[in-house]
Amino acid sequence: MWPGGLCRLWRLLGYRSRVFGPVASCRPGLCGLASRGEETGSGVRVRFGPSPTGFLHLGGLRTALYNYIFAKKHGGQFILRIEDTDQSRLVPGAAENIEDVLEWAGIPPDESPRQGGSCGPYQQSERLDLYLKAAETLVKRNAAYYCFCTPSRLETTEEEALRMGRTPKYDNRCRHLTSKQIEERLVQGCPYVIRFRLDEGTVSFEDLVYGPNRMDPANVEGDPVIIKTDGFPTYHLANVVDDHHMNISHVLRGTEWLTSTAKHVLMYRAFGWDPPVFAHLPLLLNKDGSKLSKRQSDLFIQNFSQNGYLPEALLDIVTNCGSGFSGNRPGRTLEELVSEFDVTRITTHSALLDIDKLPEFNRIHLFRHIEDSSSRQQLVTELQNLVEKVYKEKLPEGEALCKDYVERVLVHRKGHITSLLDLLKPAYSYLWIRPPVPREQMEDLTTDGEKICSMVISLYQNWPDVNGTPAELNSELRSLQMQFTTTKYSVMMKLLRLALSGQQQGPSVAEMMLSLGPKEVCERLQRVIIH
Ligand code: GLU
Repeated sequence: MWPGGLCRLWRLLGYRSRVFGPVASCRPGLCGLASRGEETGSGVRVRFGPSPTGFLHLGGLRTALYNYIFAKKHGGQFILRIEDTDQSRLVPGAAENIEDVLEWAGIPPDESPRQGGSCGPYQQSERLDLYLKAAETLVKRNAAYYCFCTPSRLETTEEEALRMGRTPKYDNRCRHLTSKQIEERLVQGCPYVIRFRLDEGTVSFEDLVYGPNRMDPANVEGDPVIIKTDGFPTYHLANVVDDHHMNISHVLRGTEWLTSTAKHVLMYRAFGWDPPVFAHLPLLLNKDGSKLSKRQSDLFIQNFSQNGYLPEALLDIVTNCGSGFSGNRPGRTLEELVSEFDVTRITTHSALLDIDKLPEFNRIHLFRHIEDSSSRQQLVTELQNLVEKVYKEKLPEGEALCKDYVERVLVHRKGHITSLLDLLKPAYSYLWIRPPVPREQMEDLTTDGEKICSMVISLYQNWPDVNGTPAELNSELRSLQMQFTTTKYSVMMKLLRLALSGQQQGPSVAEMMLSLGPKEVCERLQRVIIH
């Protein structure tokens, strides 16, 4: 067996024993939880920990989704924790937006700032005491220390390192302060941070996706800050403390955090806590392999929803371009994603997102929604509102927007439209407003125009099953043509299309007629005859 295969096998075995074996023992929580096992049946608790530095993006939704799927797959809990410890980068409204989006996407958290839960608060800025106490514990154990280095000293050492061609890193100078020196500086009110002592040596940990890892973080960086001068924790401390106190069993997060994990493992050790199981998700990239930037503002979830995309289409496209499932195919529902998911199937390959395929994913999910009678009713209301907004005064009184009419339009256009917004485009304006009769164009086609229109009206009067299929309607139209006019069938279709929609192109005439319905078809054709 080749080394990669061995390593994967090892990982699978390692994983099975950890995930399906007995759940790790009791962890004292903020919330006084007895144990992870008692909190949920399976003991699986995962969290999505976004920083509210911007609105939720497709990359963030994907991380949340994998966590949600993992939780549901294992009968566990999905937690939303807002990581707002970097106060300088907060964007007003972002935290609310994140939770709104998760609800809209159909992957609501079980515990969150809005939902509450037994391990709250779920916003890190409301847990500051906990981090301070934790940092003090580390200081007492000599695993952390006060650092009084001024920004200008740090800058100078950094410049010096760069000049010497070395990677700049903190020189750990304050590690060596005596208790007396520390005392004096604290009494003088000198600003300070607390740093974690990164002892040298290799740290090994296992990742469900990346396999065994060995890292020597002290070799790469100086002792990291865990409490900043403003009294807020840094991400590293807050994340370890919260994952422990929230009884998180598995950490599924972006691969950019893999290198920080060794540092986190050292912190767990310093506290004397068991680390959770880690699974780092491979990168989500554009299809050309470039970085999916948070500044690609069109990737914000709210923009997708405003542009008529369904949450299911987004969940489907971000999972289809990646791994973790028994094969990939478009059109999967969330339920199917949960049932087909297996964390051991996640590979380290980056997921390449072809966003141009989103309309096609949306078409498939929209079709499914239209087929389902209860979601169809929601779409009807949505479409009614959209049409009213776009066509406002142009709408005729009465019939055009009644529920049955809108529903019929949806049923006949399903599979052809990629979004409800398609139906607002000029090509479909005929559905909502009667176009003027293009008399000249019709007369250029045939002199039998009025006769053809009367034939079709009488067809409706005599045909009991006007709700037939396009094929049935086509065959009725063809037999009319053969019996009553010398105009060619294709010309007759052009004429009817012009009479009904004022357009030369569009859906098939039969589909157009079925969408409009008998009453509207007859009234439109009648206008041709009267003049
Ligand atoms: N706050 C981090 C982020 O914004 C979360 C990382 C983690 O999940 O540990 O990505």
